[in-house]
Amino acid sequence: MKRSALVSFSAALALLSLAACRGTPPADLILLNGAVYTMEEDHPWATAVVVTGNTITAVLDDDAEAEAYRGPDTRVVDLGGKFVVPGFIDGHVHFNNAGALINDANLMAVSDDDGLVKEMRRVTAILGEGEWISGGLWGAYEEWSLGAEGAGEKKGERWTPDRWVIDSVTTANPCLLTSFDGELFLANTAALQAAGLESAPVAGLERNAQGAPTGLIRRGSPALARIREVRTPKSHERLLAENRAALKALREAGIVEVHDIATPEQTARFAELQRSGELTARVWLRPDLSRGAELVSQGFRMGLHPETKQPDAFLRYGALKGYIDGIMGTHGALFFEPYDDQPGNYGHYRVHTSSDSAMMVEDMDKMYGLIRAGVEGGFVPNVHAIGDKGVALMLDLYERLKNEGVDLTGFRVIHNQVVRPSDFPRFRQLGVIAEVNPYHISDDMRWMEERIGHERSKGAYAFASMLEHGTMLSFGSDWPGTSAAEYHMHPKYLIHAAVNRTTLNHTPEGGWFPEQKVSVAEALKAYTINNAIAAFEGDVRGSLKTGKLADITVLDRNLLEVAPADILNTTVEMTVVDGKVVFERGR
Ligand SMILES: [Zn+2]
Repeated sequence: MKRSALVSFSAALALLSLAACRGTPPADLILLNGAVYTMEEDHPWATAVVVTGNTITAVLDDDAEAEAYRGPDTRVVDLGGKFVVPGFIDGHVHFNNAGALINDANLMAVSDDDGLVKEMRRVTAILGEGEWISGGLWGAYEEWSLGAEGAGEKKGERWTPDRWVIDSVTTANPCLLTSFDGELFLANTAALQAAGLESAPVAGLERNAQGAPTGLIRRGSPALARIREVRTPKSHERLLAENRAALKALREAGIVEVHDIATPEQTARFAELQRSGELTARVWLRPDLSRGAELVSQGFRMGLHPETKQPDAFLRYGALKGYIDGIMGTHGALFFEPYDDQPGNYGHYRVHTSSDSAMMVEDMDKMYGLIRAGVEGGFVPNVHAIGDKGVALMLDLYERLKNEGVDLTGFRVIHNQVVRPSDFPRFRQLGVIAEVNPYHISDDMRWMEERIGHERSKGAYAFASMLEHGTMLSFGSDWPGTSAAEYHMHPKYLIHAAVNRTTLNHTPEGGWFPEQKVSVAEALKAYTINNAIAAFEGDVRGSLKTGKLADITVLDRNLLEVAPADILNTTVEMTVVDGKVVFERGR
């Protein structure tokens, strides 16, 4: 029943498009003289795209033919040979956190006083007087370079800041920043004063030789609790401002849709931004798997708007997001054999797959029940599984559901960071999508072999093996990242990582496990049409075809022709969402 509802929604959109082109009203936008890569197999290349309203009304091989669509108010853009692709669809973001990293402190790459001061200056310029600065994760990148590179190298001294470093640039804003591991916090003088801590003998405050608090506060201490008590939460306006900053970043990166791991609060903000006409990216919401039964009981299902409960092409519920295991960054991903650098540690489960507080005892029936409840109400599951055992358990569970007659269309295993050889064929056999996050390669390769050894690393981010086995790939960025790493969202980073398998500095030469490189064409597919299909809307979006919704990205260079090392220099020139130009370089 859920499928038929989705199909009729898609059919309605298609009919609207047909109605728009029957009377051939003049176009609103004509893109001419482009290298148009359509992602349509029977018509892969074109030079012109005609847009009327929110719909593509023609994809042409001859610019002169586009003249027929020209009216007095038509905007005609000569692309000068630039590269045109269907708008990028990011299959995996944490939108809410991304905005916070843009408008609040981001200290992941900061490991000295100068860097800290610079970042505080940037943030105070954004925030109003009196607003608290939070976030941070200072030292995350420093920790890596100390930890992983060059075995036997002596660990250097970790940098720790103090309040006097930032006081002069943060007089109007109290700060509570955190270290990458959450062990230490830094309060500035304004924050200490607000909590009455400047001279109070409260436990958890670090003091210097003269007995003055340095601003450093230990995790879980009474002093930290005091500061948190007086800290004013972010206002609704501030959260909206963070959202606007994240939307701007998406427009500038050519992203037309995100599949977002959204909280109920963020969902409400999306709806508010949509009402005010500011939602410039489509959003496919992925609420937590545990909310399935509740959403179903409220009359929601996939494809419906979170407030109106009507089909909506901009903001609607998508899959339910579940979790099997932890993450590689914290040795939490679940493996059949222990981590090489942590003997005895196999990783751990998550709240959807375990019932004990330590998350060590497997309870896949718990996840089975949650998925069943969602599936019966018209939701599919998209489940995080990172270690080889996590992935195998997820495939086992999907197989069980399939054997019970469940249609697995649109079911995803998310991340698939390490897959054991015998599991590669199972994605195709089950008809399950492998959602992957290519940029993790550029990051994780630094310590992957140290943690799981060379042999298991052969199955790490093994996109070529997945494709060889006929797996449908869905690309996502995982923007903005974890406490261990920042993940970039701009498509150039994801495509670079998948095609070159090197860091941003182009190391190692030739790529990390180069046999797993994929072509630019495969990367583009996983980033456009595949993600539209993965959201059950492949018939209305995801490629450049007459009748489809006009989501278009223009890049400065033809990625199918540039040298692989040049991919990272790509810039987005124009982003069109639902027929509207939402970003244009230099305008
Ligand atoms: Zn994620």
